[in-house]
Amino acid sequence: MALLQISEPGQSTAPHQHKWAVGIDLGTTNSLVAAVRSGECTTLPDENGHVILPSVVRYQNTDEKQVGAVALANAELDPTNTLISIKRFMGRAASDVKSSYADLPYQFVGDDDGLVAIDTAAGVKSPVEVSADILSTLKNRAEKTLGDELSGAVITVPAYFDDAQRQCTKDAAALAGLNVLRLLNEPTAAAIAYGLDSQQQGVIAVYDLGGGTFDISILKLTKGVFEVLATGGDSALGGDDFDEVIVSWLREQWDLDSIISPRLSRSLKENAKKAKQTLTDQSTATVNITLDNGTELSAELSKATFESLCTGLINKTLIACRRSLKDADITTDDISEVVMVGGSTRVPLVRQKVESFFKRPPLTSINPDLVVAIGAGIQADILVGNKPDSDLVLLDVIPLSLGIETMGGLVEKIINRNTTIPVAKAQEFTTFKDGQTAMAVHIVQGERELVSDCRSLAKFELRGIPAMAAGAAHIRVTYQVDADGLLSVTAMEKSTGIQSSIQVKPSYGLSDGQIADMLKASMVNAKDDIRLRMLVEQQVEADRLHESLIAAIDADGDLLAEAELNTLSDALAKLLDLRHHQGTEEQLKAQIKHVDDLSQNFAALRMDKSVNAALSGQKVDEV
Ligand code: ADP
Ligand code: MG
Repeated sequence: MALLQISEPGQSTAPHQHKWAVGIDLGTTNSLVAAVRSGECTTLPDENGHVILPSVVRYQNTDEKQVGAVALANAELDPTNTLISIKRFMGRAASDVKSSYADLPYQFVGDDDGLVAIDTAAGVKSPVEVSADILSTLKNRAEKTLGDELSGAVITVPAYFDDAQRQCTKDAAALAGLNVLRLLNEPTAAAIAYGLDSQQQGVIAVYDLGGGTFDISILKLTKGVFEVLATGGDSALGGDDFDEVIVSWLREQWDLDSIISPRLSRSLKENAKKAKQTLTDQSTATVNITLDNGTELSAELSKATFESLCTGLINKTLIACRRSLKDADITTDDISEVVMVGGSTRVPLVRQKVESFFKRPPLTSINPDLVVAIGAGIQADILVGNKPDSDLVLLDVIPLSLGIETMGGLVEKIINRNTTIPVAKAQEFTTFKDGQTAMAVHIVQGERELVSDCRSLAKFELRGIPAMAAGAAHIRVTYQVDADGLLSVTAMEKSTGIQSSIQVKPSYGLSDGQIADMLKASMVNAKDDIRLRMLVEQQVEADRLHESLIAAIDADGDLLAEAELNTLSDALAKLLDLRHHQGTEEQLKAQIKHVDDLSQNFAALRMDKSVNAALSGQKVDEV
């Protein structure tokens, strides 16, 4: 029998147990896995020596599937069962996807406001399941290469991913049997890859243009501590769109619109991509296409034409850069480095335009395809405990403000947009009605003043509040966003300690386009919103005053002389009329003040009455 070894107290403990942890870049187009071995983080190759795994899964039947390059190679043959760029659908509603991607060859299924799924030869597949197939391929590759089981993984997500999209990514990892140490924003991972190597200080812009997403992050780096000052971008802008402008150009050249088939469409896309990549190193590219009837077509695409086709797309990324600088409250002069990430930053015009925007040459020394996975691998190694002395702390920010619905359909922001996470913030609320014993907590996300203009994340109720006068209860609502960007909300009544909480796992997410639209709308509508908010506040105040005075008149109306009671009732009736028939904020405010003044005497009489009642039967010296 083997003896267990026990080290003596105070003496060195057992030799440090190395645990394997990997970083996974689960990309829209390509995915990679990286790990720290002998102190260096490298991407891990498959048995053919390829480190890049195309994020493509082909479902042949219930038992067979292909993942990666083989699947991609068969995409043209089997377009409906070969799922490409599935990350775009993560955490998205069926209705969203069906309308945004109507021309894709997939059979989308799912209730309109439920999550999207795709019908394949292997049955209905959700984006979570497809992502899990990609992740488990990488997991197997890593375990084979490293020769051991994995203790955990850091998986990267676009900085703009919302709650639903992050949750779906976690679900996919769980399905693939991975222990998720943390979800990490892709640009932050890239900064780790550079920052740790060169021990930089200063403000860094990470420009990540991949296949399907664009992210810009402004990071502040101080002695190994990263703070994300701002994030921005567009989850529907990337190299795919570069391919798309070439496809449109080809369709126009050859007048293909009436004969387009799923196969031809896929073939155009693949050839457009090849041409684009050729133009990174050469001044012209030849595109050859075979039509469904066997006709062969050929066209020359010059670099100049390509650049004129994609200038607008690149400019869009620079607009997002400008906005993020503004969010971070800095100018390009404050930026000390620009990091290039993503395969599309290989396009020379992208590099040129980014350089002239930021007024400095961007960093490209780490392969822009691998840099995210390498940063994630470094982070995974630290989180799993292989580097106990490391004090790397990561801070990220939330992309849209998180708020709560208050009376009148207004939003009270609890955590502001661009707040660094993890974060917890609390605010106190009270009841609106006398004797109110329950409170509905409605969590919303967005920048606008009205609930109807924001996105609803979740609702729950706090019950069992002791009956008290309106305004007497103290309900503390706490919003907490963890390091993965997931939100939990707790409401607690302070006198009793009763509480209720929820983990927000919304049914579907927002696209970056929608996030950008919501931000834009909040700026455009700021003035109107504030005016409306002030009006609604007066309406709520009118309701509150009306309700409490009616209750008081019911109980103690006999304290007032008839004439006084009539004046007060008339004033209340006028208030109600203004409230429900388009009274302006000023009119409501004036009438509220009028009613308030008129009821002063009534309030005093009621106070006397209740004091007398309380004192009756007691001797004065006992008081
Ligand atoms: P993602 O993060 O979305 O998975 P990647 O960072 O792997 O994407 O980038 C993939 C994109 O990079 C694709 O659109 C691909 O066509 C593009 N790409 C790769 N190599 C080149 C190249 N040499 N020139 C231009 N674009 C390229
Ligand atoms: Mg990427």
